[in-house]
Amino acid sequence: MFKANENYLKLPGNYLFSMVASKIDAYGKQNPDKAARIVRLGIGDVTQPLAPSIVSALHGAVDEMASAGTFRGYAPDLGYDFLRETIAREDFATRGATVHPDEVFVSDGAKSDSANIQEIFSSDARIAVCDPVYPVYVDSNVMAGRTGTYDQKTGLWSNVVYMPCTQENGFVADLPAADANVSIIYLCFPNNPTGAVIDRARLQAWVDYANEHGAVIVYDAAYEAYISDPALPHSIYECDGARTCAIEIRSFSKNAGFTGTRLGYTVVPRDLKDADGTSLRDLWARRHGTKFNGAPYIVQRAGEAVYSEEGKRETREQISFYMENARIILDGLRSAGYEVSGGVNAPYIWLKVPDGMTSWGFFDHLLESVQVVGTPGSGFGPSGEGYFRLTAFGSRESALEAVSRIKAL
Ligand code: PLP
Repeated sequence: MFKANENYLKLPGNYLFSMVASKIDAYGKQNPDKAARIVRLGIGDVTQPLAPSIVSALHGAVDEMASAGTFRGYAPDLGYDFLRETIAREDFATRGATVHPDEVFVSDGAKSDSANIQEIFSSDARIAVCDPVYPVYVDSNVMAGRTGTYDQKTGLWSNVVYMPCTQENGFVADLPAADANVSIIYLCFPNNPTGAVIDRARLQAWVDYANEHGAVIVYDAAYEAYISDPALPHSIYECDGARTCAIEIRSFSKNAGFTGTRLGYTVVPRDLKDADGTSLRDLWARRHGTKFNGAPYIVQRAGEAVYSEEGKRETREQISFYMENARIILDGLRSAGYEVSGGVNAPYIWLKVPDGMTSWGFFDHLLESVQVVGTPGSGFGPSGEGYFRLTAFGSRESALEAVSRIKAL
């Protein structure tokens, strides 16, 4: 009799957002009169429609697909040159970072890339993650059998190095010990869920650590467009030496509203080699060629439009809109006496729950008392206990309403 992949069976049940959804559902059924009042600041999905210049590029590409002379079949596995060249120029050269178009791999988004990138490392590579963290990095390594055994009590895996992000370190993890023996370090800035950012000197210290200890940093910059402080780095390749130790993952989801349209990319520099001199760039190209048949032409044209002058202006306006929500939530909660962080260079607000409450306790309290939904920090890792994440991706009304209800608690 066949057997299923036993690594999948090790995954703890109840994905965070399913648990949130089932609690909302149960509350709505028990309180039908209040169900319509629920304000959702939980899931990190955008709400603004695609910008006009992007929609126009989509329409144009659809028309091309409708005519024999301009129809396109399979896209190149690694992405169309028009998009890879635009990305290399606009996202990196303009910031003084060196990334060549043939080091850019276009994909259907950062979730797939951040989950799949572990495949090109040896099966005994040890990973290090921030705690709390976007769950995909750990879960994809669980599926690959790299993480050891799970401790129900602590919520930790035996073969994962956890790097706590706490109030004390400003929610930016400290470097692992010199003898931590980590091969893959996952970093994400601006951070989901804490909204924390990293400055150039601290990011440089990570790059230096990785080069010194023979580790690779997988740098998830999905929220890069939310950085407003001009001194902060947008890409890890702004640091010296990053081309020999870093992979960067980007998404069009949060900078341009592509959560439903799907587009992202990963940069693997040619200078990134393993202990035997194997090029990770070539392995990723091989993987992409075997397991991925290219992002749709239509969507890649839409991605290109994000970098046009109108595209830049329109998407900047959307980001400003969300960041005004963030300001409303941050200022409102602060004036109500809550301790809050993030929300300045990131669309997430990280709130310390009142003393004596757990993250889930505060979730229930907000849902039952004022019908506001956020995400319990403990769902992102043990160090998230005692915290709560609110997102700025909703409508203006929902941000204002949530704040006024929480203030009235
Ligand atoms: N990385 C982080 C840190 C995220 O928070 C998210 C989505 O919420 C993603 C990646 C996924 O992005 P995409 O929509 O491109 O798959």
